[in-house]
Amino acid sequence: MKVHEYQAKEILRSFGVRTPKSIPCFTVDEAVKAAATLGGKVWVVKAQIHAGGRGKGGGVKVAKSADEVRDWAGKILGMQLVTHQTGPLGQKVRRLLVEEGADIRKELYIGLVVDRGSQKVCLMASSEGGMDIEEVAAHTPEKIHKVYVDPVAGLTDAEADDVSLKIGIPEASLPQARVMLQALYRGFWETDASLAEINPLIVTGDGQVLALDAKMNFDSNALHRHPDIVAMRDLDEEDPAEIEASKFDLSYISLDGDIGCLVNGAGLAMATMDTIKLYGASPANFLDVGGGATAEKVTEAFKIMLRNPNLRAILVNIFGGIMKCDTIAQGVVAAAREVKLSVPLVVRMKGTNEDLGKKILADSGLPIITANNMAEAAERVVAASRTH
Ligand code: ADP
Ligand code: MG
Repeated sequence: MKVHEYQAKEILRSFGVRTPKSIPCFTVDEAVKAAATLGGKVWVVKAQIHAGGRGKGGGVKVAKSADEVRDWAGKILGMQLVTHQTGPLGQKVRRLLVEEGADIRKELYIGLVVDRGSQKVCLMASSEGGMDIEEVAAHTPEKIHKVYVDPVAGLTDAEADDVSLKIGIPEASLPQARVMLQALYRGFWETDASLAEINPLIVTGDGQVLALDAKMNFDSNALHRHPDIVAMRDLDEEDPAEIEASKFDLSYISLDGDIGCLVNGAGLAMATMDTIKLYGASPANFLDVGGGATAEKVTEAFKIMLRNPNLRAILVNIFGGIMKCDTIAQGVVAAAREVKLSVPLVVRMKGTNEDLGKKILADSGLPIITANNMAEAAERVVAASRTH
């Protein structure tokens, strides 16, 4: 689960991470009022969406008067913000953060992730923070320093100081940086985060160490332990198809290809997507209907796939184990009738009651293309999608 910058900052502040003062806002008037409440002479108006790269996309603007705050808030609120992380359609801005302007001397980078290889939290740090960290990782990876943190000891003083010096934190600011890094690590650990990124972490003109941006993702398997974080969920930022699917207990992920897949079992669903790729097309989604798919669930799955304007064909790939092929076939036929299927449908089924399932499909009178193995199914669905 993702949260907004202002929410990540709120969480991290509760662990002792220092940030500039800021106020989240939903309207232009609130933004102007927020600037007055914060005081000072310079403010930054920041779009809140669940994607990075806002600065480059025009979603982070400096204002030097109340009028400028009003102007920028008016321009940013409601805009369709396109960044390298949103995809070409962008994301609509519905919330803002008005923050006091910081006197930036240095922009540094800190990121924490779970490193599966070492089974530890890996802290990454770089002197080259700011809006081009992707370039740094791609071209000068030696400028990114890593610390694999011992889960028993936590991030030690020595580790914190060592990495701070490597990224150019001035000697006088080391105690503050130590507090910051250790608070970040604890915040990451105690919230079951899967990612925490401070980009930029800044050193100000007078040597303060502050988190100017904050991004956090949380392990959804651990959210039951964090009702306060669950309360921060913003459904406006999530894919409507994925939200709808979760209501029916379907594991659905939108992708950018044009062939819908309906599969039982996550492994088979992955293999199906690979096979579609092998035959030269791309899947429109990942969808695992699970072991106990009913006709109702299959119908909902079809409806969700068909909402996608890019969809050009559907491949149903079922292994009948506990779930019998005839049950799925009935579900597919019922769903195809109910949704008035408008794209070609290829079905491959193997396993329990396979013959019965195939007969139900054949007797339905629907223009369903059948296939006997995965290669054939993929080949046929790719061909059907191209002639459709
Ligand atoms: P994003 O990473 O999505 O582009 P950031 O919050 O990192 O958004 O902001 C982008 C850039 O804007 C930062 O690298 C920094 O240079 C500047 N910036 C952000 N917040 C402030 C602030 N409060 N004061 C001064 N500059 C800021
Ligand atoms: Mg940033």
